[in-house]
Amino acid sequence: MINFWVKTPLYLRIIGAVLIGLLFGLILGKDAALLSIPAKLILRLLTTIAPPLILLAIVQALVHAQLREGQTARLAKALIINTLAAICIGLFVVNFIKPGSWSHFTRNSQEKITSIFQGPLTQFLDNVPKSILGPFTDDGKVIGVIIVALAFGVALRRLKDYPISTIQDLLHIGLSSLTTILNWIVNLVPFAVFGIVASTIGVKGFSDFIALGWFVFSVIFALLLQACYYLTLIRVKSWVPPFKILSGARDALVMAFSTSSSTATMPITYACLRNNIKLREESASLGALVGSNFNNDGTALYEAMSALFIAQLLNLNLTLFQQLTVAITSIAASVGAAGIPEAGLVTMTMVFGAVGLPTEYIAILLTVDWLLDRCRTTINVMGDITVSCLLDGETAE
Ligand code: ASP
Repeated sequence: MINFWVKTPLYLRIIGAVLIGLLFGLILGKDAALLSIPAKLILRLLTTIAPPLILLAIVQALVHAQLREGQTARLAKALIINTLAAICIGLFVVNFIKPGSWSHFTRNSQEKITSIFQGPLTQFLDNVPKSILGPFTDDGKVIGVIIVALAFGVALRRLKDYPISTIQDLLHIGLSSLTTILNWIVNLVPFAVFGIVASTIGVKGFSDFIALGWFVFSVIFALLLQACYYLTLIRVKSWVPPFKILSGARDALVMAFSTSSSTATMPITYACLRNNIKLREESASLGALVGSNFNNDGTALYEAMSALFIAQLLNLNLTLFQQLTVAITSIAASVGAAGIPEAGLVTMTMVFGAVGLPTEYIAILLTVDWLLDRCRTTINVMGDITVSCLLDGETAE
């Protein structure tokens, strides 16, 4: 049974969870509210792991980056402009289509759900640490310390013989153990999806899912616009014909979509840039290797759109200043998102925190993240390819 669970790809498990959740929601009606507990727990765990993961991902990217002086400024300029374009496109589309206006979370339905969490369940959730260092502060809870110790103890067992002789080794160990813990949490996501679908349908019916459908449409539309932006930029600012990107980098784009991991795709991206598109070695390696650490435009676009979508669902009008805060934190969150599946979901907790949006609403996004993660990863990789082409300049080798 466990074998079957582990062997089934995550997206199939999530689709299964949606279907079973739907059934339970219809059968149990309002009683299904209780089933939203796993989602709360998983979101709490994602929030806990976000800050150290972002910290180590950025530090490692900086330590690994091998840049020559002239190239650093050009690379930084390309990265910043592309990410800003992605966020502007995302914000424009979500403000224009307003997917969140198709449904509204009312305080009442939310209160109905939260009132069930009083008592022992709330106490249990309270013991799950909100941050890795949280349990060690003055009001620390011993159970929290035990949870952190167990997680790191088991994750580090795999690495116990790994020699530490440089700072890079240390960073590798830190990041690998956090990634292992994140993988465990991601494996629990189908349970959260089951619970959130059952409780939302049971308590509120289908209206949230209609809004979610519009959100998926909006994100895919915005990502396509971003792809058009890349191809135009490549056409204008580099020697590479855009159609050559689509045929020469096809393998990398398909791999990104199928693995949801730009890091796993990195070697293929590099090979496509060198062998098929024939970029210079330096531009290919800068864009694919350095870019893949910092450059996550698809993720930035997605995080900004998600924050606005949830604000629309909650009927909150974000001011221009708050939207700007969303944009800035989305840039930081996309830089800090490791190139692994669902990393964007982890860093999104920080974007929500910055403008005071309740992170528990991210739960509803879990149901569609398996698809949107693939789409934004493809754009992340396309962003790396674009940066490589821009660095390669207007004349071929
Ligand atoms: N999966 C994405 C990537 O690998 C990161 C994310 O979750 O947004 O690029």
